[in-house]
Amino acid sequence: MRTIESLGDLRGTRVLVRSDFNVPLKDGQITDDGRIRAALPTLKTLVDAGARVVVMAHLGRPKGQVDPAFSLAPVAARLGELIDAPVALAEDVVGESAKSVVAGLEDGQIALLENVRFDPRETSKVDEERQELARAYAELGDAFVSDGFGVVHRKQASVYDIAQLVPSAAGLLVFKEIDSLSRATDDPERPYGVVLGGSKVSDKLGVIANLLKKADMLFIGGGMAFTFLAAQGHSVGTSLLEEDQIEAVKGYLAEAAERGVDLVLPVDVVVAPRFAADAPATVVPVDAIPDDQMGLDIGPESQRLFAEKIAAAKTVAWNGPMGVFEFPAFAGGTAAVARALSEGDMFSVIGGGDSAAAVRTLGFDEETFSHISTGGGASLELLEGKVLPGIAVLED
Ligand code: ADP
Ligand code: MG
Repeated sequence: MRTIESLGDLRGTRVLVRSDFNVPLKDGQITDDGRIRAALPTLKTLVDAGARVVVMAHLGRPKGQVDPAFSLAPVAARLGELIDAPVALAEDVVGESAKSVVAGLEDGQIALLENVRFDPRETSKVDEERQELARAYAELGDAFVSDGFGVVHRKQASVYDIAQLVPSAAGLLVFKEIDSLSRATDDPERPYGVVLGGSKVSDKLGVIANLLKKADMLFIGGGMAFTFLAAQGHSVGTSLLEEDQIEAVKGYLAEAAERGVDLVLPVDVVVAPRFAADAPATVVPVDAIPDDQMGLDIGPESQRLFAEKIAAAKTVAWNGPMGVFEFPAFAGGTAAVARALSEGDMFSVIGGGDSAAAVRTLGFDEETFSHISTGGGASLELLEGKVLPGIAVLED
């Protein structure tokens, strides 16, 4: 990928930057500014280089229409606080306001265009429509830095098309993400462990198929574990079960055996009569799941087993919570895996929106993991071994 340095001396140059500012809002207030903070290294680098920075970002799903509820105004204010300089917000995406705000920039100043998804062309499936918008972006900037990791798997005007119109490069966040995720998937230091969980096997088929070819150990927890247990002939009560995936899962079990991959399934589970925070929880071995109960977490014996094996790994990629961590009674498995990664002497990467949220909710120090990805969908596609359009355009 091309670096910011490859763009040369940026003093006085108008640099378009795609950032991921899709932050959670409650009553117009930002409840987690992690994504804005993650964008700061690149923005500071450009400001220090004397560039005139024009940031493009989206918020929520305004569906191609102007909707004040999705205005980037709160983001502009927060970004200004964090970077300790005023951030001018245009009132439109590429209209008169955008043009005049950009024209008013001095070296080292930052402007933010209004939510790019106010324009239907941003996410259009029609190439010509996206390209038309990208040409309008190119009127506002002389170079492009792609730093919105959460959107690099999208073929969108401010991510993909603009990169083909002006000199373009990857920002520091995109670099760090790609560097860490590829270190944990392409050529990992061994033993290499992959921990998968979350709700559905069908969401993660691509990840299983890709990483089964590379892993030394594959741990399966979360809702998807029940389709694996069913494939082994266990009855799983009312647990999440995808009957139509049982054959695929049998194929993975056979492939793991053939390749000598240590495929580790739970040996016990925490069950409850219903999906609720206050449902009474009981621990049962996997061959004794009652017909009228559902598994909502891996059990304590499984937690010990997973943690002990994970500790032997030199690289671990983790995607998907081990249980319904949103309910404290069923968060033990996710916490045990997080602890094993946090305390282990290994290169550890966490991908997946809910997994990253779980680690934070459970109070782990983010610094104790090698990398927590900021992009749910994008990190999943990298774990699947896919080529991301927004990355491919930044390669030479
Ligand atoms: P990620 O966003 O990290 O990729 P997913 O979206 O695949 O993860 O899955 C996260 C969800 O899976 C969580 O909301 C969690 O409650 C749910 N989950 C985990 N284990 C179970 C289970 N045993 N039964 C039902 N849902 C589960
Ligand atoms: Mg999710």
